[in-house]
Amino acid sequence: MIKINENYLKLEADYLFASVASRVREFEQKNPGRELVWMGIGDVTQPLPPACIVAFHRAVAELAQRQSFRGYGPSAGYGFLREAIARHDFQARGADISADEVFVSDGAKCDSANVQELFARELRLAIPDPVYPVYLESNVMAGRTGVARDGRYEGVTYLEATPANGYVPDLPAAPVDLIYLCFPNNPTGATATREQLGNWVDWARANRALILFDAAYESYIRDPDLPHSIYEIPGAQQVAIEFRSYSKSAGFTGVRCAYTVVPAACTAYTADGAPVALRELWRRRQDTKSNGVSYPVQRAAEALYGAEGQRQVRALTDGYLANAACALDALGRLGYRCSGGSNSPYIWLQVEGDSWTFFDRLLQRHGVVCTPGAGFGRCGEHHVRLSAFSSLAHTREAMRRMAGMH
Ligand code: PLP
Repeated sequence: MIKINENYLKLEADYLFASVASRVREFEQKNPGRELVWMGIGDVTQPLPPACIVAFHRAVAELAQRQSFRGYGPSAGYGFLREAIARHDFQARGADISADEVFVSDGAKCDSANVQELFARELRLAIPDPVYPVYLESNVMAGRTGVARDGRYEGVTYLEATPANGYVPDLPAAPVDLIYLCFPNNPTGATATREQLGNWVDWARANRALILFDAAYESYIRDPDLPHSIYEIPGAQQVAIEFRSYSKSAGFTGVRCAYTVVPAACTAYTADGAPVALRELWRRRQDTKSNGVSYPVQRAAEALYGAEGQRQVRALTDGYLANAACALDALGRLGYRCSGGSNSPYIWLQVEGDSWTFFDRLLQRHGVVCTPGAGFGRCGEHHVRLSAFSSLAHTREAMRRMAGMH
């Protein structure tokens, strides 16, 4: 008899986006012709930067010729991209990361979900609430939690992000081994200062813990004092793995390219306390389970680091940030308390009552779609997430309609 991994049965239903979609569908059936304004989506809407398109075409043309054809590439990514990443994204910011510590992949989603394979099942896990659900669910699948009760899995330390701590969780009161952090955060839009990240790094070093740092929204940081990478913090290389993605910086959500940094110094331990270099384990895992990312995609990603590419990425993210600024300004005038929206494409809005009631009211009365905060964790209750990934015209229209709620 073929048996299943019963941990999958512990997963709560994919409630958030399925429920949003079904409520929107029902609204559209009852209100044909009524135009909706989408402020909930986490996907980008603008086309790829032109520099990528040129590089893509050129790379495809290479594959069309026998002399320049390429088959399987290195599973960790081509040297040209890994070198460009190390130079531009880290060394230029004073973070001493080299190309052989960079692992190119087809997504920060899969990397942040897969990385837990490197660790013992019995470890103590700390996950922010609210946060991107992949961290928690990949650990549920791996059997690191008990069942969920009242929206919380047994055996997990939840790091609460609330208005009281500015949505930057406090250090854990009890020891934990594996800590997920995400800044700029999805969904709260919160960013972490150098000092706050420094406290996490010091804590991880003192407790021989590991931080999994998701910097998928790093390209939205404009405040020059905010760190873009955890490796800008001294001592982080021993205790942190970082995830990056071109999805939100360059519109690669459909193209698929990202990378993970595992510094040579990054260490975990055997049951006997012997140190093991995590870079070698991740390399081994990727060699066994991945054949890398396609050559044209990696050439397109490389093109983002040229002068034109850099300008175009900046213009793209500036455009989304302009939408966020427009929304933030209007929401402030309407009296809402918000987090994010600058240095982040997400605005996290405190609302009265529960987040699904607010979602329904905004949809039914005003035809605006947001994302109910409760779907991101218990601390997401009384909040909704608005995203800046639509157009400026749609953002303005959404704000005009929200003004009508008052
Ligand atoms: N990490 C965070 C925090 C995200 O919000 C997302 C996408 O929404 C991802 C990772 C996924 O990135 P990718 O498209 O590279 O898989």
